[in-house]
Amino acid sequence: MPKDLYAILGLERSASKEDIKRAYRRLSKEHHPDRHKGDKAAEQKFKEVNEAYEVLHDDKKRAMYDQFGTTGGPAGSSGAGGGGSGPFGGFNFSGFNAEDLGGFGDLFESFFGGGGGRRGKRDQKGRDLQVEIAVEFADVVEGRDRSLTLERQRPCQKCGGSGAEEGTKQVTCRECGGTGEVTRTTQSFFGTFRQAAVCSACGGAGKTNEHPCKNCGGDGRVRSRDPVTIHIPAGMQDGQTLRVRGEGEAGVREAATGDLYVTVRVRPDPAFERDGDDIRTVVFIPVTSALLGTEIAIETVRESVTLKIPAGTQPGQVFRLKGKGMPVLNTSRFGDHYVTVNVEIPTRLSRAEQKLLEEWKKLRGA
Ligand SMILES: [Zn+2]
Ligand SMILES: [Zn+2]
Repeated sequence: MPKDLYAILGLERSASKEDIKRAYRRLSKEHHPDRHKGDKAAEQKFKEVNEAYEVLHDDKKRAMYDQFGTTGGPAGSSGAGGGGSGPFGGFNFSGFNAEDLGGFGDLFESFFGGGGGRRGKRDQKGRDLQVEIAVEFADVVEGRDRSLTLERQRPCQKCGGSGAEEGTKQVTCRECGGTGEVTRTTQSFFGTFRQAAVCSACGGAGKTNEHPCKNCGGDGRVRSRDPVTIHIPAGMQDGQTLRVRGEGEAGVREAATGDLYVTVRVRPDPAFERDGDDIRTVVFIPVTSALLGTEIAIETVRESVTLKIPAGTQPGQVFRLKGKGMPVLNTSRFGDHYVTVNVEIPTRLSRAEQKLLEEWKKLRGA
């Protein structure tokens, strides 16, 4: 449940940095476990005080907390289900992960509704992977599946990711006694205090395998090289990144799998100049075609179409072929294809041509 960090330290929201330090110093002494041996309530209170201080004494974390605290969002959404579905689903929490917060990730997860029932396992989550692939221009015209081979941690086939040797059971973790947490002692300016951290032996699960799987050593995952098929959607631009959920590294013992981020480099096609979703090409026509009009075939990214050049077309005139450009990513729409018409002036004329043109000149009265 969300807690009011200011209330924990007995402070108002307007409290100064000094107030926060003073309150923390007083309360952490008051509830210090050394003074209350075996007193669970005091231990809990001590933990809360430390958590509150960890957030409030850091300007960045405090600003963050203040912002969410006043909107009432996280508190109201805590019952609304999993992380990401709340009002902050789109918020960027980078720089705010459990690691940055030391042992205090719990607290933030309780605010943001992220932790839920998977407490502790987050530290064992599989890493996200990042790769870059080159695709052909045609691949992003149609959209195409591409296969690539990745070396990564995948769930152990032998134990199914549990890390337990077949037919053996899980036993209470010896390291943490089944709580999934170990207490870390930290020296600080304010004296020695203890904070809880996820038990590394069991990854927070509180149980370890009596007989670890021989294939994966009990990790529940093995490093392997295997092919992954990635769908390159039509309309992707050079340098854009795709997120493929669940194709990162497997987590330890069935913890969440990371994601795969694929940055797509699109090889240019010399025949087409791409301008976002539009295509630009240049075509040369004889001067007579510009004067009299004609029809020419234009290769667009998908098909050949006929472009009508009206009589009297000027050099550099641009024609639009509507909907003949690139597919617009994640839609059924298409950009346009713009054709710039250049007029070829002959550099040499035959005697007959010259004669005709002289007559034409007279006709024009020029
Ligand atoms: Zn295994
Ligand atoms: Zn443990």
